Amino acid sequence: KRKIRIYELAKMLNIDNKDLLQIIQDLGVEAKSHMSSIDTDVAQIIEETLREEKESKLGKRSEEVATTLDTLEISEGSTVEDVANRLGKPATTLVKELISAGFMVPANAVINEDIAKTINKVLGVNIKIVPASAETKDEPRVRTVEPKKHEKPKKLLPRPPIVTVMGHVDHGKTTLLDYIRKTNVTAREFGGITQHIGASVVEHNGKKIVFLDTPGHEAFTSMRARGAQVTDIVVLIVAADDGVMPQTIEALNHAKAANTPIIVAINKIDKPSAKPDRVKQQLADLGLIPEEWGGDTIMVEISAKTGLNVDQLLEMILLVAEMNELVADYEATPQGVVIEAELDKGKGPVANVIVQQGTLRRGDILLFETTWGRVRAMMDHLGRNVDEVTPSLPAKILGLEDVPQAGERFIKVDDERAAREAVEQYMEKKRQQEMQAVKRTSLEELFEQM
Ligand code: GDP
Ligand code: MG
Repeated sequence: KRKIRIYELAKMLNIDNKDLLQIIQDLGVEAKSHMSSIDTDVAQIIEETLREEKESKLGKRSEEVATTLDTLEISEGSTVEDVANRLGKPATTLVKELISAGFMVPANAVINEDIAKTINKVLGVNIKIVPASAETKDEPRVRTVEPKKHEKPKKLLPRPPIVTVMGHVDHGKTTLLDYIRKTNVTAREFGGITQHIGASVVEHNGKKIVFLDTPGHEAFTSMRARGAQVTDIVVLIVAADDGVMPQTIEALNHAKAANTPIIVAINKIDKPSAKPDRVKQQLADLGLIPEEWGGDTIMVEISAKTGLNVDQLLEMILLVAEMNELVADYEATPQGVVIEAELDKGKGPVANVIVQQGTLRRGDILLFETTWGRVRAMMDHLGRNVDEVTPSLPAKILGLEDVPQAGERFIKVDDERAAREAVEQYMEKKRQQEMQAVKRTSLEELFEQM
């Protein structure tokens, strides 16, 4: 019988002498040391066993690899494009997949929980966001090979604040907006004709402020309900002769829920019956402590009618905007939100929008949720035809296929076909959801009858 020494076999099998000796002894074969010889038959059995074990181990490993592919670890701040790169697909493909799931995000959007959830729903890939600090802490870590695609540097520049005026009925919302618009220099120079585009742009000390034209919290909440957070600052207006009223509290709660900074305008200060200190006390009881009392809520006593201190209010808006470092990427894929839209007899579908990222240009193909279109013409707040609209600014746009709804978001896409298909998919999904809702209620009705 042919024999082989254990150390020779170990070398062949590429394992440790001692390990092999242990295996052989465990098999009940007598062997004293790695210098001992064993039958080649036995050697063959050992070799086969080891190979099988190795294969099953490898199998397990590849399963592990598969599950790690199921969960994709990305570092905090990664964008949709980064994830697409990691998944080995073009960013536009991933964006389209997300849109067809009813989630509209541009390629440069930073991955958050919502986007991660949607990616999971669409692709079954679990996205795990690793905080930037934890990643360095856990080193050394076997990192997946990440193609270092050259990233376009983001050009974050300041953008004007977008302001909504909220407050109880008759406390002066419309009067304040009218006063601000009327006294605006740009509008005056242009002949004082401001066009209705859903928002007003005013300039104070050379800086722009955008006011949403629809005051009150209905517009604010309906936008938010659609996931479109447009407002940067809420001006909560309280009439000094009337004080805090139910809608004041409602507005305050909405602003708080949206985490939007609040500036209080105590209005009608020109009235003899005005009691600004009483208003401050009422607001303090609600948790809004005025600065002069050691709190951090800016309160300005104004008269929307005479214009007293309205300048100061604008000043404060710019201050809060600066403190909150409102910025946008002017070179990102253009995207924004519809603030209102209608069907014009002559012009067709008309949408008043606000650009949130990127620079919107005439000719851009825009994908909304329920429609799409190529921007045929754009008008600014003074009714001028413009070729470009930068972040925070409103515009009236023409050229859409259909009338979108207020609060719908839009994003620029590369081609008309992709836009049309995405809209079709979105509508189909909605139809299915609606049908399911109908089915569900009829089933519930059926159960009730039983
Ligand atoms: P809104 O319901 O909040 O939009 O309130 P309005 O702007 O329509 O104002 C309601 C009433 O209050 C109108 O008659 C305004 O003229 C009046 N008003 C608004 N602001 C002032 C103000 O600062 N002083 C005075 N005396 N009246 C004001
Ligand atoms: Mg009003």
